[in-house]
Amino acid sequence: MANFQVAIDGPAGSGKSTISKLIADRLQMIHIDTGAMYRAVTLLAIEKKINLHDENAYQFLESVNISYRDNKIYIDDRDVTEEIRSKEVTNNVSLVSSFPYVRNQLVEIQKKAAENGRIIMDGRDIGTVVLPNADVKIFLTANVEERAKRRQKEKMLKGQHIQLEKLVEEITIRDIKDSTRKESPLKKAKDAIEIDTTNLTVDETVDKIIGLIISAKGV
Ligand code: C5P
Repeated sequence: MANFQVAIDGPAGSGKSTISKLIADRLQMIHIDTGAMYRAVTLLAIEKKINLHDENAYQFLESVNISYRDNKIYIDDRDVTEEIRSKEVTNNVSLVSSFPYVRNQLVEIQKKAAENGRIIMDGRDIGTVVLPNADVKIFLTANVEERAKRRQKEKMLKGQHIQLEKLVEEITIRDIKDSTRKESPLKKAKDAIEIDTTNLTVDETVDKIIGLIISAKGV
């Protein structure tokens, strides 16, 4: 089938990855979670004990391969899908992703990955920078309490108990950093359709977006 691109952007915990994955399964598209890529770079930077504040210290990216395939994130052939969800990675990823050098490296990989096929890509700058000509652009939102509750549930399923207030704080800080940074800030593309998922179930959101993809002749 012909190429087709869906861009899903939105703040932390708005459900981008969960929803993108479900749509990809239903419509046989390739899903790429770009947040996982920024997290993988952050994990590697922490492991290498570089000065995270020094943009020049990220040159190690020249010799590693970061890829997202079949719902897993890899550094070369190492599967780091679980490790990238650690608190240390979460608390540093907004800093790491603020550097133009890091962004340029990852955006290049992302653009290349979307060149052929039916792609659904989620992140913060997909509709604005990575895939500005995407066939469908969605901006997902939800109020911060609802997003924190969803995160809490996810963590609970993994046996971790985190106070709701802590999650509200962590998400709020990340939102501020991601939307106020100079380079490719989190921003709704002019031609994106905003969907507030605060009072929608996952299935309702998926159905809504699939409806938009059908209207754009992506099915
Ligand atoms: O989507 P997720 O919450 O896993 O993303 C982690 C972080 O990666 C975000 O808080 C943001 O700092 C960064 N990110 C980004 N651009 C993207 C995707 C994620 O800057 N396209």
